[in-house]
Amino acid sequence: MDIDTKRIPFLLEEKKVMVCGFGDMIRDALKDKLEQTNCIIIDADEKNLDLTNQEDVFAFFKKYSPDAVFAVETKFGGNFASQTMPADLLFRNLMMITNVIHAAYNNDVKKLLFMGYSSVYPKDAKQPMVEDALLTGPFDKVNEPYAVATLCGLKLCQFYRKQFGSDFISVMATNVFGPKDNFDLTYGSVIPSVIRRAYEAKANNKQELEVWGTGAPKREFIYSEDLADALCFLMERYSDADPINVGTGEALSIAEIVEKITEVVGFSGKVNYDKSKLDGMPIKVCDISKIKALGWEPKKDLKIGILKTYNWFVQNYEQITEQKLW
Ligand code: GDP
Repeated sequence: MDIDTKRIPFLLEEKKVMVCGFGDMIRDALKDKLEQTNCIIIDADEKNLDLTNQEDVFAFFKKYSPDAVFAVETKFGGNFASQTMPADLLFRNLMMITNVIHAAYNNDVKKLLFMGYSSVYPKDAKQPMVEDALLTGPFDKVNEPYAVATLCGLKLCQFYRKQFGSDFISVMATNVFGPKDNFDLTYGSVIPSVIRRAYEAKANNKQELEVWGTGAPKREFIYSEDLADALCFLMERYSDADPINVGTGEALSIAEIVEKITEVVGFSGKVNYDKSKLDGMPIKVCDISKIKALGWEPKKDLKIGILKTYNWFVQNYEQITEQKLW
């Protein structure tokens, strides 16, 4: 780690801070966190800004002139999306990333944090995955459209820093979940999907719950509120060309996660593992030594996050049933 110490701390207090990305989960968690910081929040959500439209993005930056930008929530979409809409995934993510990063440069944004997911690490990366493993081997084909766009974002941050001295940083986050996650049964990731299936099974008095794959793969999960805490911490305390991981550093098997979810939901029937569905990588967990060395510690109680997510889901059940990827 070769942190530019002259540039930290970059305190967010009283700054104009823009939060942009596709989707609400991380953006909302970030806004909640930023509200405790006495900064001015500029929310660039899909309703008030088409992030894929360069003209609109440039005009938005000119109008609001942010000091700091969080570019979060690129869309990953999972196996099904990468098979059926790879062009959409690559195009939309790439547009959002390039538009936002270039607009930040054009408008003299003092600090930008770009966030991608750890699914861009090579599929054979040694576990836990260290930041240096990026781009050392081929990534899982399933992640290809998302990974190509994300790695462009990471490189753009490095190149704007190198060519223009811009203080742009990249963060690689582990699997995230939380309120406002995507609960669509096709496009959602494992936690929201299983929450929904277990809830609907219980509501319909079904005694069986379907879970994809063998239940054996291990994944690391971070609750959106804890991720937002880490992102604000890094915005203030990290300035380097190299990306930095955010996670908990601990992986659980899918079967263990499912057990936590069924306990929270109160589903006591049988769990059936559908082995015709893909498991994906056998294990995926980030090495978080770098962020820990800076003084950030993850919270480890996943069940609290699952409970908060479940409560949000139940309260908003009617609105989420028609959810799609975009
Ligand atoms: P990723 O594999 O890290 O990209 O994350 P996912 O959340 O898509 O999947 C994690 C693991 O959960 C994989 O082994 C999936 O096969 C398994 N899984 C079990 N049930 C589901 C489900 O309903 N949806 C998804 N997306 N994954 C599931």
